[in-house]
Amino acid sequence: MPSAYVYFDSAATAAPCKEAVEALSCALQTYGNPSSGHCAGLEANRLLSESRETVSAAVGCAPDELFFFASGTEASNTALFGLARSRKRFGNVILTTDSEHPSVREPLAALEKEGFRIVRLSTENGKLRENEIREACRLPLAFVSVMQANNETGAVYDLQLIKRVMASEGCAAPVHCDAVQSFLKIRNNRLPSFCDLATVSAHKVGGIKGAAALYVRKGTRLPPLLLGGGQENGLRSGTEAVPAIAAFAAAVRAKSGDTERISRMEEIHRRLSDALTEMGIPCHLPESGLPNILHISIPGVPSSWTLNALSAKGICVSAGSACSSRNKKDNPVLAAYGLSKAEAESSIRLSFTENNTEEECRLLLDALGEAATLKRP
Ligand code: PLP
Repeated sequence: MPSAYVYFDSAATAAPCKEAVEALSCALQTYGNPSSGHCAGLEANRLLSESRETVSAAVGCAPDELFFFASGTEASNTALFGLARSRKRFGNVILTTDSEHPSVREPLAALEKEGFRIVRLSTENGKLRENEIREACRLPLAFVSVMQANNETGAVYDLQLIKRVMASEGCAAPVHCDAVQSFLKIRNNRLPSFCDLATVSAHKVGGIKGAAALYVRKGTRLPPLLLGGGQENGLRSGTEAVPAIAAFAAAVRAKSGDTERISRMEEIHRRLSDALTEMGIPCHLPESGLPNILHISIPGVPSSWTLNALSAKGICVSAGSACSSRNKKDNPVLAAYGLSKAEAESSIRLSFTENNTEEECRLLLDALGEAATLKRP
């Protein structure tokens, strides 16, 4: 769909794809409550089942292992608080990393206050260290929660390594993975091959806000966070947002059927990082990274200056230095990656989809070149 902006902030939220918009508008006519027994309810329920089949196939799980939620945040909170309750008797240690998204970081901080011990693996340069994982596996682990790809740096963490080390140490704790950024961005990415629970979110993959999903391996005990009408097999009470879920499924169908998509993002990534390096703007490139996130620092220019200068030209990027544009606390993720304070304060995240054009890349590069000449008075 043509955009009013030159949009390089797709990791914050991506433009809905045309398939999602069509499915949304169609599903708005299917307004029955999927729990109702009459024909309108049955039609909504059929749409919900079809959507579950589509999304579960892309995740790599069975339809009855996939539960819909209203956001990735809600899905991860349910996974973490649920696992904490069901696994407490197996141990009080939770293994995670030092660079999780707040939707995982904050629930774990709350569980820490309740008495759990949180062990945070370092992710310097986007890499997990085998010896740290091995040491943690010898502790009484309740469960593990590690993101597959970092939303700031794009670093892809090696979850197969965690799985291998856990197996070699005889550690059977369940693994939750925040796959919100990596879902549909990595080839042949079957989430159940390395985790027991995984969170994905519609608005990062061309769906609309208001739908997300949690994969839960069959047999995993997970008490719900929300109680009520018992929807989603009792895991998430509340009437399902059928239009948003149908749009999610339509986006997943369109994206997972397009095998060239990831190559196009890789091409944009290469084009931007080559040009920026030539312009003297450092790119922070993890050894293994997502094809659609490029984190840079513009030496001496505060992130907010670059963000505002580009925004004035209709170009949208994200300032890496604060947790969010409205939360001015320092962002722990960039320090965890190993950026200096100066690099973090001048850092910018560029994120895109396969649909960003050559012309948009040129406008972005010109504007970043201009921003690089802004100096503190
Ligand atoms: N996890 C990661 C890595 C994210 O980037 C985000 C959103 O930015 C979330 C979780 C939260 O997803 P949602 O916005 O659907 O709550």
